[in-house]
Amino acid sequence: MEGTVMCTVIAMDHTNLSYRACSVCERTLPDVPNPVCKFCPNYNSGRPPPPPVRFFRLLVSIATDTEVFNVMCFDRAARVLIGCSADEFFDFAKFHPFAAANAGKILEGEMMKMTLTKPKNGNAQHLRAAAVVPLRTGFQPAIKSLRELYKARPGLS
Ligand SMILES: [Zn+2]
Repeated sequence: MEGTVMCTVIAMDHTNLSYRACSVCERTLPDVPNPVCKFCPNYNSGRPPPPPVRFFRLLVSIATDTEVFNVMCFDRAARVLIGCSADEFFDFAKFHPFAAANAGKILEGEMMKMTLTKPKNGNAQHLRAAAVVPLRTGFQPAIKSLRELYKARPGLS
């Protein structure tokens, strides 16, 4: 189902919502403690490599009026839902290990207008949300609700 759809967020896969990439060329970096981009000029030059940056890669389950399916929200679309950069969210989640799970709960039931496109990578199995527009008046991105939640309940992890 490509094109623009009205949908409801059913769930968000909160187990793996971001990945690290090179801040210069934006290629995905290996999942190791201090990843180095092999494509950028500083590789093996002795100079410090470009610092890694985190991008969102959010798998979201949505329901239209006829079907339920998963869509992939990359950084720009995901930021509409989450409300901050993936690095900011990652830092927040260091202090609140359940932040991602709670973000998923917060977004459940939200109505969205999504523009869905075929994945650029032919092996990718999910449609991609190229644009996301929240439809509910008063919608606030997950990080804003999370900050309020953790402020109101300081003991919550
Ligand atoms: Zn690079």
